[in-house]
Amino acid sequence: MTPEPIPDFPSPPLASQAEPIREKWALVRERIQQACVAAGRSPSTVNLLAVSKTFGPEAVLAAAEAGQRAFGENYLQEAVGKILALESRVPRLEWHCIGPVQSNKTKLVAAHFDWLHTLDRLKIAERLSEQRLAEQAPLNVCLQVNIDGEDSKSGVAPQDVLALAQAVAALPRLRLRGLMTIPAPAADFQSQLLVHQATKALFDQVRSQLSSPDDFDTLSMGMSADLEAAIQAGSTLVRVGSAIFGRR
Ligand SMILES: *Cc1c(COP(=O)(O)O)cnc(C)c1O
Repeated sequence: MTPEPIPDFPSPPLASQAEPIREKWALVRERIQQACVAAGRSPSTVNLLAVSKTFGPEAVLAAAEAGQRAFGENYLQEAVGKILALESRVPRLEWHCIGPVQSNKTKLVAAHFDWLHTLDRLKIAERLSEQRLAEQAPLNVCLQVNIDGEDSKSGVAPQDVLALAQAVAALPRLRLRGLMTIPAPAADFQSQLLVHQATKALFDQVRSQLSSPDDFDTLSMGMSADLEAAIQAGSTLVRVGSAIFGRR
């Protein structure tokens, strides 16, 4: 389950070995490729988000050199330090906030990120829309769905997703992109698949009821341990940390 955010995360240690990251990144790309083949999908329909939380800027740099552009971070303090440290070294990285956001931290998200995956309250959405600067592109957001009722702390209940989606879609400085889930870990493929299929069904249902569904194109689900099942069910974005950067 998602850990609670640690407010002042200490500086992460620098990763020193670029080569293993490049190799592990390539293996993850290969897994995605094969899962797409197995699911009869084009590999271009699944994006890889490299989750770099707890790893330092050098690890991000190594993955970027391998060809990775989009990075996911959970802890805002840690993330912003990394984003600023890399800004001048690697232009055009894309930063996704995938951790819980308290209302007193929305400004950091609005200022520094391209995406937020964990939106689950209108109040947070309104603050982000107000705080997003005029010169920035709208903030891309996914609603986090509590699909299996396991993680009671975060995520919208499935029956409340449509109403929140409609309200968020109306906010001027946000761009509602889709849904995100973190299901409880399940060991076997079949159980992973069932819960991912439930999320995909909800995604399709919500999309069909939005007045302008074209932007609603992202289903953020699947991590190191279950990306194959997520892709089989229709994920368009897998969030992979340990399989690329190693154990945390
Ligand atoms: C840490 C994290 C991931 C990556 O998990 P791995 O098991 O390391 O691939 C994905 N999504 C979220 C929300 C996370 O917090």
